[in-house]
Amino acid sequence: MTKRWTVAVAGGSLGGLTAALLLRDLGHDVTIYERSQRELEQRGAGIGFLPDSSRYLVERAGRSLDEISTTTETIRYLDRSGTTIHEQQHRYRFSSWNTVYRGLLHEFDRSRYLLGHEVAGRDEYDDRVTVHLGSGRHIDADLLVCADGVASSFRQQLVPGADHRYSGYVAWRGMVPESQVSSATASRLGDAITYYVYANSHVLMYPIPGLDGSVTTGERLLNFVWYRNYLDGADLRDVLLDDTGAQREISLPPGTARAEHVAELRATAAARLPAALAEVVLAVEEPFLQVVYDIEVDRMAFGRTCLIGDAGFVARPHAAAGTAKAAANAWALADAIAAHDDVRSALAAWEPGQVALGRQLVERTRRLGERSQFTSTWDPTDPDVLFRLREEGP
Ligand SMILES: Cc1cc2nc3c(=O)[nH]c(=O)nc-3n(C[C@H](O)[C@H](O)[C@H](O)COP(=O)(O)OP(=O)(O)OC[C@H]3O[C@@H](n4cnc5c(N)ncnc54)[C@H](O)[C@@H]3O)c2cc1C
Repeated sequence: MTKRWTVAVAGGSLGGLTAALLLRDLGHDVTIYERSQRELEQRGAGIGFLPDSSRYLVERAGRSLDEISTTTETIRYLDRSGTTIHEQQHRYRFSSWNTVYRGLLHEFDRSRYLLGHEVAGRDEYDDRVTVHLGSGRHIDADLLVCADGVASSFRQQLVPGADHRYSGYVAWRGMVPESQVSSATASRLGDAITYYVYANSHVLMYPIPGLDGSVTTGERLLNFVWYRNYLDGADLRDVLLDDTGAQREISLPPGTARAEHVAELRATAAARLPAALAEVVLAVEEPFLQVVYDIEVDRMAFGRTCLIGDAGFVARPHAAAGTAKAAANAWALADAIAAHDDVRSALAAWEPGQVALGRQLVERTRRLGERSQFTSTWDPTDPDVLFRLREEGP
């Protein structure tokens, strides 16, 4: 390393933490500024765990994959009666957001992980970037990594024309301990990722680590993701009006959906889903919701500032690759920083590959979503429906 740079990371979720750890490992002076007042918590929501997502924990933190993820060997599709209509052997790993977050945070110096620190803006100069905090403080850095997520204010400032589109549907999600469903349902759903695809919708379920991180059968959670269509405008706004009357834009955290929408979700589950899948949905106490977007940017590097993870591209979740993309952005960033003597050249070299990565993921997952939600042409035998980050391979 020729010079020790000061790096500011805006956003301390999975993308920001991975970038911060990798740049710290290179010997740079890294601080994370996270807006949230408290450590982040997403109540264990499941993530398909692709190799990029687990890479830091395995390669640098010495964690074993079996200790931080569940494994399924089968992809199974059911029909309305619950009969298997397609089955193939294919290994997936699943983890939970909390497991990965806690694992990464454990590796980072907590005194450099500043909660309650919103990053409000920045000014670029030849020799530095001045980062403005919401508190009114200013920090000079050599590099600003913006990992501020789907609603990124930096994306809005830096790429005002970013292509930001509502997909036409949302993901209702939830988890339930496998011990809280019947043993028949736990064993039917515990060894596979299970899909049910029906008219203009699909739901999938898989086991993830328990809230305490346990991956032992019987102590895990069953996680569901159910894609359901809402018209843009009043229909979407209505489901996003929370139980306190506040209008949400992007998600409804657990416990905030209005009772009539939760009742409708449960009634539709009982009426339309195979019995085992309906049992899981009905057992979830606080289903939550995330709006599904396609967001594309044509740039991710701006002098000494870059966008990573969902602050750059946001792809529909059908490839289970969002956290993998954020991690891949971070690993490539660290490689570029290691290979260059100045930050601007490093970011300029890093950017084209990351734009291409984001673009292909958004395009592929958009095609998948159109098939399941609008044209009802989802094909379980199409290799495109397998989870992966890149066009080819994992
Ligand atoms: C339904 C659904 C299912 C998904 N399933 C999967 C899956 O199976 N596998 C997978 O890999 N991915 C999945 N994803 C995608 C994944 O959740 C995201 O891609 C990932 O969380 C992006 O991480 P990030 O660090 O870029 O952003 P985020 O996790 O959104 O974090 C952004 C952080 O920035 C902070 N922040 C925001 N603004 C500021 C500011 N101004 N200053 C300081 N801090 C700020 C926020 O508080 C937050 O902590 C799914 C997404 C959805 C919607």
